[in-house]
Amino acid sequence: MTIQILFSAKDDRWPQYNGPLTHALQQAGITDFNLSRDIAPEAVDYIVMAPNGPVQDFSPYTNCKAVLNLWAGVENIVGNPTLTQPLTRMVDHGLTRGMVEWVTGHVLRHHLGMDAHILGQDGIWRSDIPPLAEQRPVTILGMGELGTACAEALVMLGFDVTGWSRSPKDIPGVRCLNGEGGLRKALSTAQILVLLLPKTPETENVLNVQHIALMPQGAMVINPGRGPLIDDQAMIAALDSGQIAHATLDVFRVEPLPPEHPYWAHPSVTVTPHIASETRDDTASQVIAENVRRGEAGEPFLHLVDPKLGY
Ligand code: NAP
Repeated sequence: MTIQILFSAKDDRWPQYNGPLTHALQQAGITDFNLSRDIAPEAVDYIVMAPNGPVQDFSPYTNCKAVLNLWAGVENIVGNPTLTQPLTRMVDHGLTRGMVEWVTGHVLRHHLGMDAHILGQDGIWRSDIPPLAEQRPVTILGMGELGTACAEALVMLGFDVTGWSRSPKDIPGVRCLNGEGGLRKALSTAQILVLLLPKTPETENVLNVQHIALMPQGAMVINPGRGPLIDDQAMIAALDSGQIAHATLDVFRVEPLPPEHPYWAHPSVTVTPHIASETRDDTASQVIAENVRRGEAGEPFLHLVDPKLGY
């Protein structure tokens, strides 16, 4: 029987993914398949999707074996009451390496105080020597695929890295903490704080007034996770008071960030337009193809989302 694979994403994604997905499915040994944007719902075996694509009601897909998300974040699908099929999220080599590069780049920018020289070509000889990485405590909230890879890269550079997650972890070179007590401890040393948590009801506003107050005076925040992890009012107040010296923000409650939003004009904020890392079509297609292969072989899917946890 021909395996029917529905592709549901914005129009410009189809020419991008059609070739790599076809190639990856063939490479995975799947020969008899129909990859299309138009398949009768009851005939669909798998949905490959982006959360902002056309499929929002999963109830007509009565024979669908799995919904395979192209994005790492699933907050816009996981609570969908029509979703009864297994949902997988994207864990992709290209996405992970992109995030490692973006996070290490921004950590090094703040650690080395690069702005003083890039923005300060004014004839003043600023000879402050930055500390070594081993003297710079960096905390990462969220030690999943992306947080762990970033922590490992920062450890390789010599940083003093603390990680915080829901469950206990043991990662070489990283001080691993969990639970509310662990969060307080992780924040108390965070001269640079990286947010790589998913957006769930538990993680929303994790960076609030109380938690910001636990951080060292003049700490720096880097958020490539999700906008709602930060209480924006608390963040702006902390930036105004100097409690937070700088925030580099890639994700926001409303995207694109509206031009009138105070983050754009704040002198201590760097806005980047949700570009920290992107799913790469070639490597992501291999992950999708492997999950189709697994589905057909009756093997467990990779990267299954737990609907109760929301990630
Ligand atoms: P992941 O593998 O699911 O990891 C999530 C981590 O967060 C895990 O360590 C998990 O703990 C922890 N966590 C979840 N809920 C928690 C809670 N209530 N308390 C403490 N820790 C909690 O996710 P990922 O692939 O690393 O991706 C992380 C997020 O990055 C995504 O959800 C997405 O929002 C964001 N992202 C952004 C971009 C961008 O371009 N800006 C690109 C890709 C992804 P356990 O390990 O104990 O489960």
